[in-house]
Amino acid sequence: METLVLVNLFHELALKGQNRPLFLKKAAAHVERALAGLGARREATWPMALLFRLPEGAWPEARGRLGHTLGVESFARVVRTPPDLEALERALEEALEGQSFGSFRITAQRSDKSLPFTSPEVERRLGALVKARTGAQVRLKGAEREFVVRLLPGAFLLEAERHLGPGGLPPGVSGRVVALLSGGIDSPVAAYRLMRRGAEVVLVHFHPFPLLSGRSREKAKALAQHLARFQHRLKLHLVPFSEVQRQIILEAPKAYRVVLYRRFMLRIAEAIAREEGALALCTGDSLGQVASQTLENLYVVNQAATLPVFRPLLGWDKQEIMAEARRIGTYATSILPDEECCTLFAPRNPVTRAHLSVVLETEARLDTEALLALALEGREVLRFTWPGRKPLEAAGERAFIMEHGSPRG
Ligand code: ATP
Ligand code: MG
Repeated sequence: METLVLVNLFHELALKGQNRPLFLKKAAAHVERALAGLGARREATWPMALLFRLPEGAWPEARGRLGHTLGVESFARVVRTPPDLEALERALEEALEGQSFGSFRITAQRSDKSLPFTSPEVERRLGALVKARTGAQVRLKGAEREFVVRLLPGAFLLEAERHLGPGGLPPGVSGRVVALLSGGIDSPVAAYRLMRRGAEVVLVHFHPFPLLSGRSREKAKALAQHLARFQHRLKLHLVPFSEVQRQIILEAPKAYRVVLYRRFMLRIAEAIAREEGALALCTGDSLGQVASQTLENLYVVNQAATLPVFRPLLGWDKQEIMAEARRIGTYATSILPDEECCTLFAPRNPVTRAHLSVVLETEARLDTEALLALALEGREVLRFTWPGRKPLEAAGERAFIMEHGSPRG
């Protein structure tokens, strides 16, 4: 049987003033792309909702995809009936089969004002039916189950099964940001939080290959492939960092190594941002989490950038970040072992209050321009798209790493 799916768009999209039509158009296009390859057809469009028709069997996959599609507030499998109450009651009885809950509410929205009954009348009548069939109590606030019916001209729609989406703004409506992606837990979450606010994220990963193994690169690719499901098209710059590190190790006081690595990362990311037309950078720093993230060190690191550096996790603790990483599905990849460039020759006692003067003196002995040029030249740029050829749900995170082991242009 075909399935009808009603998608409710993120409530904030209604508040965009003159830009509202543009935001809604982008959200609708994003939802349509999320359903690509499933044979979905858009049947109707309301200002804040879309109705799709799906072919037989496509609902489970569509449900999985819509559950993480930005811009989707909620979505529901709906049943369409002719515009009469008996037909609606029969559909509701069918939807109740095999279901049990303690409390419920009916919400009727009447957009056909010519109907001979009001929304409250419909709510009372359907409410009585549900009560009689299930024994559940009506509860207007905090009900376990809500049945929404839309009374449209020519048809009624009953929500048979409702799910929450992630909310958020569709990608790209807020402009472009370059996000620094390590192989860790925090930076993929930071990138996601900006995607959720409508930023189009371009990822940059610095790897120690060939000084160390290419494992962090493979992890970055796997994370990018996963994050692509939120943005649908995602670019990853893989930047060789070992020469920068070699020079820093030769010239810098040991305790200053990580602060200097970070400053070079920001400089290179900023050069990429200019190429990409991005107006800001993003990192996964959380205030005070590790030595390199003290306020003093963040201050000194930041001096290397001229673009704003966004740190969406600055006020989050590790538990909160880990919970979000699990929710968005990056955690399992983030905890895979790797050889990251910042742990490379990292001092046991890193400076927690770096002095800008020491940093500048050290950098004066380095050929910053040449190091930047070398790193940018040695870059690989990969593009990830989603939905891919095969349903991602079928493959584990490790499978991504194997599947994307060789670079794709
Ligand atoms: P994460 O889990 O994101 O690695 P972390 O707590 O390990 O965070 P650090 O290793 O101190 O923190 O890195 C702080 C931030 O610097 C990261 O969140 C990331 O944005 C950036 N960063 C660190 N290493 C890299 C790298 N190899 N490539 C790109 N960005 C990096
Ligand atoms: Mg890290």
